[in-house]
Amino acid sequence: IVSVSLGLVTKTIASWGSEEQKRAWLPRLTAGDALGCFGLTEPGTGSDAGNLSTKAVRDGASGDYVINGAKMFITNGTWADVVLLFARTNDTPGHRGVSAFLVPTDTPGLTRRTIHGKLGLRGQATAELVLDDVRVPASALLGPEGKGFSIAMSALAKGRMSVAAGCVGIAQAALDAAVAYAGEREQFGKSIAHYQLVQELISDISVDVDAARLLTWRVADLIDRGREFATAASKAKLFASEAAVRSANNALQVFGGYGYIDEYPVGKLLRDARVMTLYEGTSQIQKLIIGRAETGVSAF
Ligand SMILES: Cc1cc2nc3c(=O)[nH]c(=O)nc-3n(C[C@H](O)[C@H](O)[C@H](O)COP(=O)(O)OP(=O)(O)OC[C@H]3O[C@@H](n4cnc5c(N)ncnc54)[C@H](O)[C@@H]3O)c2cc1C
Repeated sequence: IVSVSLGLVTKTIASWGSEEQKRAWLPRLTAGDALGCFGLTEPGTGSDAGNLSTKAVRDGASGDYVINGAKMFITNGTWADVVLLFARTNDTPGHRGVSAFLVPTDTPGLTRRTIHGKLGLRGQATAELVLDDVRVPASALLGPEGKGFSIAMSALAKGRMSVAAGCVGIAQAALDAAVAYAGEREQFGKSIAHYQLVQELISDISVDVDAARLLTWRVADLIDRGREFATAASKAKLFASEAAVRSANNALQVFGGYGYIDEYPVGKLLRDARVMTLYEGTSQIQKLIIGRAETGVSAF
């Protein structure tokens, strides 16, 4: 909730917004009085986001934009006060025709529906948005027309550090739970912490936690020093998300049958970790970004 509202939306307004947009949104978003959501994915375009089909057409007489389309899997979608929305403003195929808009969620024509039945992240609203002749003034455009895809990609590069940091938290929680349980649970007359195969599970989690944390800190350090960080963010996000899934799964194994029951936290950790390898770019997409940086050849 926080990572999307502050990391993806608020920071993007701070980087690209006009003075008027900053005054309208930043105080409320940073105080937590308003929430933002990030509307990039559509029913037909996920990894290939530059190919999105939501359209914003300029209404000649008023200068307004009229937006039509749909957005899928939008975190905070039904709770948010503003959507950072990506829509096509001209017919140039691919990402060059995409622009960014700030659309208040009470704008007529915008409807939102919570998506139920998620594997994890059940404390958070994921929604589908439908835009049916949503009219916004020209001042809703964020950054220059046609720059929307670069704005989205720069937001996601930083967002990947937040996702990686969240994964470090999940993996650390898995380690803490596994260590505590291994010390308490007795089988064959001793706590299971005595058994080397259980120690192996805990050792694997511990190494994953350290490696994920160090890769994440490296990104934070690069950002602090104003250095190029996008590939490092993809590496941290790729490793930390896969590590969070492995760690939660290893912790569940330490808990035995009890790990499979909701009374203990490790099942929830595994369900919550699972989405981390999917959103803000799947693991496959991170590998393509890293591969492109290493080889200089783009797979996209
Ligand atoms: C809980 C949740 C919250 C989300 N929150 C948001 C949000 O707030 N805002 C938002 O805009 N989106 C959000 N998303 C969407 C998310 O970013 C997408 O689901 C993700 O980018 C993948 O897109 P897709 O689901 O369409 O999968 P697809 O792109 O259809 O991919 C399907 C499979 O094909 C693989 N694949 C695709 N292209 C390639 C390729 N070129 N090479 C190799 N493999 C490839 C993928 O890695 C994946 O394994 C969220 C998703 C979920 C589940």
